[in-house]
This record gives sequence, C-alpha cells and structure tokens, in this order.
Amino acid sequence: MTYPTPTPRAELITRLALDQRYDIAVVGGGATGLGVALDAAARGLSVVLLEAQDFAKGSSSRATKLVHGGVRYLAQGNISLVREALHERTTLLANAPHLAQPLPFVMPAYRYWEVPFYGIGLKLYDALAGKAGLGATQLLGRAATLERIPGVQPEGLKGGVQYWDGQFDDARLALALARTAASRGALLVNHCAVETLLYDAGKVSGLVCRDAETAQQFTIRAGCVVNATGVWVDTLRAQDSAAAGQAARPLVSPSQGVHLVVDADFLPGGHALLVPHTSDGRVLFAVPWLGKVILGTTDTPRPDAQAEPRPFQEEIDFILGESAHYLRRAPRAADVRSTWVGLRPLVKPQSSPGEATKKISREHTVLSGPGGLVTVTGGKWTTYRAMAEDVLQHCAAEGLIRDLPAGATNQLRLVGSPADGVGSVSIGSAPGPHLYGTEADGLRQLPGADTWLAPGLSEAMVRFAVRHEYARTVEDVLARRSRLLFLDAAAAGKIAPRVAELLQEEGIAQPQSQAFDALWRQFDATAHTAA
Ligand SMILES: Cc1cc2nc3c(=O)[nH]c(=O)nc-3n(C[C@H](O)[C@H](O)[C@H](O)COP(=O)(O)OP(=O)(O)OC[C@H]3O[C@@H](n4cnc5c(N)ncnc54)[C@H](O)[C@@H]3O)c2cc1C
Repeated sequence: MTYPTPTPRAELITRLALDQRYDIAVVGGGATGLGVALDAAARGLSVVLLEAQDFAKGSSSRATKLVHGGVRYLAQGNISLVREALHERTTLLANAPHLAQPLPFVMPAYRYWEVPFYGIGLKLYDALAGKAGLGATQLLGRAATLERIPGVQPEGLKGGVQYWDGQFDDARLALALARTAASRGALLVNHCAVETLLYDAGKVSGLVCRDAETAQQFTIRAGCVVNATGVWVDTLRAQDSAAAGQAARPLVSPSQGVHLVVDADFLPGGHALLVPHTSDGRVLFAVPWLGKVILGTTDTPRPDAQAEPRPFQEEIDFILGESAHYLRRAPRAADVRSTWVGLRPLVKPQSSPGEATKKISREHTVLSGPGGLVTVTGGKWTTYRAMAEDVLQHCAAEGLIRDLPAGATNQLRLVGSPADGVGSVSIGSAPGPHLYGTEADGLRQLPGADTWLAPGLSEAMVRFAVRHEYARTVEDVLARRSRLLFLDAAAAGKIAPRVAELLQEEGIAQPQSQAFDALWRQFDATAHTAA
C-alpha cells in the first residue's frame, strides 16, 4: 500500500529551503490553520504551513471532543452560530467517519418541569438541523433514562431528554487535515516556529521561521500570510502593527478549560451525559471517549496563555463535585487517569471588557492588520471548515490571493476515510487500528503490528507515526498520534522508554524523553492530590 504522505523531515526541510514564492503561508497548525491550508491547497493555491511545536499541540488536541451545534449557544440565543455548526457537523461526519461519529446524549432531569423545558429547546435544535439532524430528540421517563445512562444518580431522578450530536478524535482529525493538505501539494512543517514577519513597502511579504531540531533559519516569501496561532495571535498582530508604527489592541481573551478522565465504568451505556445547568450556571459533560470517560469542563480566564497550562485546584474540585451530584458512583481524585487543560481563543468583547468569559461570543473573527497580516481566531473545532472558507474569502477580497470558487472541501474526504462513509467502530470504544480507517490494513504490514505497547497502541503504529504522520518526539506519539497521555497518563509514562527506542530506530536522534517524563507526571498529578 502506498500512503499519500511520507514525512521524512529531511525532505520537508529541503523543500522549505527552496527559493519559492507561495500563494499563502499559514502560521499555526491547529484546527484553524490546518483548515485554511487544506482549503487553499484544494483550490489549487501553493501553500506552506509552519507549526511551532506539533500539529494540534495547542487547543486543538484539548477539546471536549464534541462535533456539535452547541446546545448552550442555543440557550444564549445565538441561532446563526448554531445553524452553521450543525451544517458543519454533518460535513465533518461525512468526510472523516473513522474519526467523527454521531453520539446520543442524555440530559437527566431532577425536577418535573425540566423534561418539557429542555425537550422544547432540543426539538428546536433538531429543527435548526433540519436535514442535517442525526436523530430525533426523545423525552424519557425515569426508567428509560436509567436504561440509557445506568451510571446516572438515580436519587430524585424524574426522567431525561435524549438528543444527538457528534464526537471525534480531535488530534487525529488534525493530522488527517495535515496529511490531506499535503496530498494536495501543501508543504507542512511542524517543530518550526515563525519568528519574524517580512515586509516590502510596508506590506507583509513573508516570514522567517526556525527549525527547532537544527536551529536553522528559513526565509519564506508569500503573497498572503495568515496568522492562525489560536490564543497566541496577538504576538504576530503586535509585530504587524509595529511595522506600521502602530500598537495593536489585544484581540484574544484566553479561557481555560479542564477535563478529567476516568474509567469507562463510571458511565456505562454508550450515551454521553449533559448537565445543562451546574451549581454555578455552567454546562458539565461526561462523554465516553476511546474507552474512557471525559468529565468537564471549566471556563476560567487565563491571560498568561502558557503552552502547558495547569489546572487550578478549584477547577478539579468543581468537576469532581458536580460529577458526584450526577453520577451514581462519585469519582474521586484517585480515580482520575489523566487531567488536561486547554485554552479557548475567545475574541474579546469590544464594548464590555469586564464580561465573564463564559458569556463571550464563540464566533470567529477574521481581520487584516495595518501591514496586511490576516488574522483568524475564535470559533470552534466543529466549524474549522467554514472558518477556512471565510479566511480565503477575506484574503481574496483584500486582493492577496486569486479569487477561486469556495466549496472545495465540502465533499473532500480526509485521508483514511472509508469509501462507504461509515466508521467501523465507535469513537467511544477503546482505541485501535479502526482509527486509521482505510490505512489500517497497510499498518499491519509494518514491523511490530502484533506487538502491543498498551491497549490499542502497537509498535507498528509508532513507526507509522514517524513515517507518515510527522511525529518527531515521544510526546508527539503518545499525546496526539495515540491519545494515551490523555487517557491514562501513568500508562503513557510507563511505555515512553520503548517509544523513544522505536523513534531512534526510525532515525530520530533526540526523541525528547526527558521532557515527556515531566509532562506525563503533570497530566497524572490529579490522581495524586488529596482525595
Ligand atoms: C477546553 C476546551 C474545550 C473545547 N471543546 C470543543 C468541542 O468539544 N468542540 C468544538 O468544536 N470545539 C471545542 N473547543 C474549541 C476548539 O478546540 C478551538 O476553537 C480550536 O481548537 C482552536 O484551534 P486553533 O487552530 O485556532 O488554535 P490552536 O489549536 O491553539 O492552534 C494554534 C497553533 O499555533 C501554533 N503557534 C503559535 N505561535 C506560533 C508561531 N509563532 N509559529 C508557528 N506556530 C505557532 C501553536 O503551537 C498552536 O499549535 C474547545 C476548546 C477548549 C479549550
């Protein structure tokens, strides 16, 4: 079997060094940047994308894993956002069914009025989805609710409402976007940070980036530079404004979201649980994912925007405390297998600076700086494709790229997508070769296909990660090609030395084992706090 994307680093770097002027240079390899790169490449533009760390290392590997219209945005009355996201939900499920699938959710009701009240809201959600609906909302009595989510707290339970949304493997979807863009000719390089923007006659004309492995610098020229650096967009925006002798007003207000992972037996039954109104008015999810259960999340302002933010103790207490109200078996700190923290790139309200982050718009923003740098941020994973279309429309309207028809990615199946459009195994089930879709058979031809390092992770998968999925470090493999760090941090720590050996066998001299040793302990820390 031939794969669309061999990714030997030396070849990528050789291409980067070529004297070429790209139509578009994208900075940032999360959902947003990868979506732009794929759409631009699919339209026939020449594209380069630089990612400072690894694809999806930022917010794009730390989502709640929902492909959703956003029930809570409906409650906020943001109908256009919900409608667009519901449309994108369908497109994503169709284009990557091995990585994104429908999932039934149940809202448990502990007061009689909640069943009709939430039922009406969710029927409206169905109506907004129209043909894009995944299944009809159902009002449930107590017995039917317990049958669907046997792990729910039965005391005082009156009934529930079942509705449909989607779920996905966010980091693997990001890799599928990167590889699909590469198969359309785009050059994507991870571990290569953009350091400076270049200007010609006051307009941005390229950038300088640095390969983290060799410290070598490269000059890239491009007709259009897109800043898709998530919560970090203000750094390049400041450079762009400074080039024009101006000061940029910060655009992003990062908000931290914490997730805890516990074993699957806390939520048997294959349905996700949504608590629409926690004690402090937030939404809490318990979602079956890759053989575990994700509990979350929080919404805490985090202006310092670190690459690996840590949870606040009160955020962990909040998730465990609320879960204890709604689950039959209350999870304790010692039950937590992994804790991860992500930063939402929320766009600052322009009029009311003191507004709470949970009320700030989740819509995306596309704008040009005084030096012509195009910045895109905000939005959500589910809408990455629509965001990319908006970005390219903006770039064309500014005269930075050719005006080519939109819609190139509407029906563009991502690498690994099965032809029949059906994922063989649910994303809720334990990981395994099914996550590779059509590439699972070829994976079996690699050495170590039957040598399992952990459930769902074979030695062949580590080799595949290097040869075809841009992996360069132990973290790249265990956090994002496999999701073991997110599922069970201690298990990831245990197999890290063997993963490092395999990376070395694949020609990577410095797989950064020490950095991973610190990281898995950070993800594992909650299990070792006081119960
Ligand atoms: C807790 C949480 C839960 C969420 N849940 C959901 C959900 O369930 N469903 C959903 O649809 N959305 C969800 N979202 C939203 C979604 O995850 C984000 O909107 C999306 O991932 C943002 O992607 P991005 O590409 O803009 O940013 P990022 O993924 O952060 O990517 C930006 C990238 O830019 C890189 N970068 C920064 N500076 C440079 C530089 N100088 N040079 C090169 N690269 C650089 C970074 O390393 C990073 O990889 C959630 C977000 C959070 C935080």
